Amino acid sequence: MRANALGYAEPGALPPTVMPSERQYRREIVFFGRSLHDRGYVAAMDGNLSVRLDENRILATPTAMCKGMMRPSDLVIVDQNGRRISGRREVSSEIAMHLLIYRLRPDVRGIVHAHPPTATGFAAAGIPLNQPLVCEVVIGLGSIPLARYGTPGTPELTEALEPLVPHYDALLMSNHGVVAYGVDLHHAYMKMETVEHFAQIALVTHLLGHQQPLGSAELEKLLVARSKYQGSKSSAALPICVTGQDDEDNHESRRSPDSTPVQVKPRRVTRHS
Ligand SMILES: [Zn+2]
Repeated sequence: MRANALGYAEPGALPPTVMPSERQYRREIVFFGRSLHDRGYVAAMDGNLSVRLDENRILATPTAMCKGMMRPSDLVIVDQNGRRISGRREVSSEIAMHLLIYRLRPDVRGIVHAHPPTATGFAAAGIPLNQPLVCEVVIGLGSIPLARYGTPGTPELTEALEPLVPHYDALLMSNHGVVAYGVDLHHAYMKMETVEHFAQIALVTHLLGHQQPLGSAELEKLLVARSKYQGSKSSAALPICVTGQDDEDNHESRRSPDSTPVQVKPRRVTRHS
């Protein structure tokens, strides 16, 4: 089987049939940590990543370290209560967020938290990414809601995320950043990229002053496509419909008689309590 430097199968190759070793998970975290830093999704010592090794052990990035400069031996292993089992460095102060997600989502084995500038801009502006503007984002991620603000490293933050974690695969955290999670770290990282890319597209629609969201009929078809989409294991809800959109709504009916797209105001914050 052909594989890249990380051991991932190249397109067309058969998927791996064995679970990666702890050594390989360490290399994955280092690889995706560097990717986050290279892309500008984290600055300085921001962000954290983790992998669920088994029922009781989580491999995570340490605190106070640049995610672009880690070595595999810098990572720490904690138990399901966040107590360090092995590793020389201190565990991330945001480990409670990871533990919450692993507890609520048995299907999740990888988590990425970062501060990508555009998506974090939406989080700081109090605007969720819940408009159905791009069909492939609807299929892959559904909707990206905005969790209310909570001080990092405190129960405030986990309490804000808790009601959303079972229903979505990526969350905006008010005035903070983004967390994305998946069946493995690779999928979690890809979801983080999708969130930031979608945020950039959404920003352009705001700059243009027009949004042309998909209507209910299109969303229904995407729901069918999503259920058939091989490899889609997202549990995320579809985007909620735009205010004032009726059941018959679609591209055509959102146009004014002279075919100028109807301007849709950005939806205000729907804070979850
Ligand atoms: Zn953070």
